[in-house]
Amino acid sequence: MSREKITLFWFRRDLRLEDNAGLYYALKKESNVLPLFIFDSEILEKLEDKSDKRVAFIHEALEHIQAQLIELGSTLLVKCGKPIEVLESITTHFEVNAVYANHDYEPYAITRDNSVGQFLKTKGIPFRTFKDQVIFETNEVVKDDGLPYLVFTPYSRKWKAKMNEYYLKAYPNRKYFHSFLSTKPIPILTVASMGFQGSFGTFTVPKIEEEIIKNYSEQRDYPAVNGTTRLSVHLRFGTISIRAVAKIARSLNETWLNELIWREFYMCILYHFPKVVDSAFKPQYDQIEWRNNQEEFDAWCKGKTGYPIVDAGMRELNESGFMHNRVRMIVASFLTKHLLIDWRWGEAYFASKLLDFDLSANNGGWQWAAGSGCDAAPYFRVFNPYEQTKKFDQHLLYIRKWVPEFDSFSYPHPIVEHKFARERVLAVYKKALQ
Ligand SMILES: Cc1cc2nc3c(=O)[nH]c(=O)nc-3n(C[C@H](O)[C@H](O)[C@H](O)COP(=O)(O)OP(=O)(O)OC[C@H]3O[C@@H](n4cnc5c(N)ncnc54)[C@H](O)[C@@H]3O)c2cc1C
Repeated sequence: MSREKITLFWFRRDLRLEDNAGLYYALKKESNVLPLFIFDSEILEKLEDKSDKRVAFIHEALEHIQAQLIELGSTLLVKCGKPIEVLESITTHFEVNAVYANHDYEPYAITRDNSVGQFLKTKGIPFRTFKDQVIFETNEVVKDDGLPYLVFTPYSRKWKAKMNEYYLKAYPNRKYFHSFLSTKPIPILTVASMGFQGSFGTFTVPKIEEEIIKNYSEQRDYPAVNGTTRLSVHLRFGTISIRAVAKIARSLNETWLNELIWREFYMCILYHFPKVVDSAFKPQYDQIEWRNNQEEFDAWCKGKTGYPIVDAGMRELNESGFMHNRVRMIVASFLTKHLLIDWRWGEAYFASKLLDFDLSANNGGWQWAAGSGCDAAPYFRVFNPYEQTKKFDQHLLYIRKWVPEFDSFSYPHPIVEHKFARERVLAVYKKALQ
């Protein structure tokens, strides 16, 4: 029997049917397009928590896509395994004409895509990939001499000067939905069949709340206020299009647009300097003699440091998988500077807990807080958690929400005295950096 001829569109960080560049080109140029998602077993095996909400989030986003595809008389194919093995097995069932996907810039993804490309080549199958998750990728915003920017402000200036309608235009995928393969639905894998459990909640297509964006500059630093958009998880998994988001940012609020640019800045840093995954961007910061006290690290993770704003942040993270940006900065500064614990420990803990975990933003955020990043906080800037509380949670609303016992006898004493910790870190950093 002859195998059915199809084109694969491989979903990765772009879990939506609308305004999706790679999917658009697949649908426009090809017919019988079968969308595919692979739960990468190499990534799943590394997740220690079998209730990891990110697996559930992806699964619910896939169910949403599947429902739309069923309405169109098509289906999503969901597999679990090593990408090359999955693709190989698909080629034994179908005659695969081409594989389409969107660019992914993390070191692991680049290596994976290189080997997938080589494997497909041996089968004579083209692997066509497109820019989708950013407005500007890799070398599109660089200095006049062609080298990557190491400082955010000039990068953002060039980014804004280059941005125009062309880059923000939505891909009209719907126009070509007739190119999906007509077929009966293939039931999608359950979370349990992959050894995971739990649910994310109710996945809903993200809405951009314009009021939040309009008031962003005044409200974004107050963790008790609903003042930021909470779009990070959607930008991470592509359940919203960056073009749609940047278009709104451009028309409503430049401060918020800058945050989207930080996202791309850190992606470029990781792309051009993959060493940052394991090393300080500024090498002399790897000379710091971290104390790395395990008990203190555990207290930080559990939200039991005796510093209410730090503990509130860590408990928010543990319970919800999210932490407000201002508080991310405070807890990261506290771990690296007050406790002198290697930023890589904190980074790894965040990576295990954050729903919006993104290697480039997380690494960038941690190296910024530790002072070791390319455009980082100066090393002598040590956040005072009490001053930060006075400024950003004056009425203790955020603290009361996450640490209700903070003013009772059961609440621990501060793990370290602020003034002492400040002097200690300044001495240790100075020694490493001289
Ligand atoms: C130590 C530390 C670790 C971080 N880890 C991550 C991470 O793993 N994943 C992640 O998406 N963000 C990370 N951030 C950045 C920031 O805290 C979150 O993006 C933000 O809190 C998400 O909330 P929001 O969607 O309401 O953001 P908004 O304030 O509404 O911003 C809009 C979008 O801009 C992007 N953005 C905002 N701030 C930053 C920033 N500083 N760097 C990069 N992108 C940004 C995000 O995609 C965000 O959704 C980290 C920051 C720090 C200090």
